[in-house]
Amino acid sequence: MTMMKAAVVPALGSPLEIRELAIPDPGPGQVLVRMQASGICHTDIHAARGDWPVKPNPPFVPGHEGIGIVERVGAGAGAGAAVRQVGDRVAIAWLGSACGRCGYCVSGRETLCLAQRNSGYSVDGAYAEYALADERFAVPVPDAVSSFDAAPLTCAGVTTFKAIKVAGVQPGERVGVFGVGGLGHLAVQYARIVGGIVVAVDVEDAKLDLATELGADYVVNARTTDPVAAIGDLGGIDVAVALAATPGSFEQAFRSLRRGGRLVCVALPADGTPADPDLRYRHRRDLHHRLDRRHPPGPRGRLRPALRWPHSCGGRRPQARRDQPELRRRPRRPSPGTPRHRVLTCTDGASL
Ligand SMILES: [Zn+2]
Ligand SMILES: [Zn+2]
Repeated sequence: MTMMKAAVVPALGSPLEIRELAIPDPGPGQVLVRMQASGICHTDIHAARGDWPVKPNPPFVPGHEGIGIVERVGAGAGAGAAVRQVGDRVAIAWLGSACGRCGYCVSGRETLCLAQRNSGYSVDGAYAEYALADERFAVPVPDAVSSFDAAPLTCAGVTTFKAIKVAGVQPGERVGVFGVGGLGHLAVQYARIVGGIVVAVDVEDAKLDLATELGADYVVNARTTDPVAAIGDLGGIDVAVALAATPGSFEQAFRSLRRGGRLVCVALPADGTPADPDLRYRHRRDLHHRLDRRHPPGPRGRLRPALRWPHSCGGRRPQARRDQPELRRRPRRPSPGTPRHRVLTCTDGASL
């Protein structure tokens, strides 16, 4: 077989098209991965719309939550100091490659590398039957985790894993998770794994029910209850993880902190974040941002434990599955309440 199916963005803002493309040849240091599952991240929707200042060049194949099997290796890969072999099951994440030599790369902050390439954005991604990957950035997936479960952990998982790490959550600390969506339902689990007491905040009861199911100790419906007051009654929270892209939610997250608390901003509201410096100073609260990459190892190093942890600790990862043809619809913002809470597309259902 020399051809494959791929979901292609033909032009920014246009519906995805399923096209027949030639299966790419792996170049030096690359591997060809037969995809099994791919998560659908909101970043893919931004990419397809061309929402961000640096735009992808259509036609391109989105997808940076891909899991598959290495089928071929290019020259220089799979031998000597190289790390990936035919048959390895690997994750294709947002960071497709980085230079490996600059100051950012050598200090574990590869996502700041000016020479980085991003899967499904600047290089074709995982919405296809096959994808190329730089073997150094194709992270192995533990045997115990299915491809279906591993896919959303490849971006949503590593993002929330890092938020909990950056916050430095200590056992017994109260952690507020503001927004129980595709990321938040994973943040609840990572926070619980490190021993946090979790307060989940959302505006939908169904999501709060899920948070309880996943181990949240307290839930607050911000539509009917003021979360700042409700959390204040508990004594405040030590860590707030802001995952809902609304300035109001950020404000609530910030104001729910105890003195010395830490706010970790993960979502990116279009209007910016409201935590003004004066307020931070007066209340001695710290502000961390997702883009503050202070904690080596880099994303590849974080992806390994992010993949391992939920499984080893009995975590659950609710997802909705869609067959590839359904990707033909126009990229759009997911409607509230659906899906529950992460959508995946599978090209190889038999092996999942
Ligand atoms: Zn993503
Ligand atoms: Zn670099």
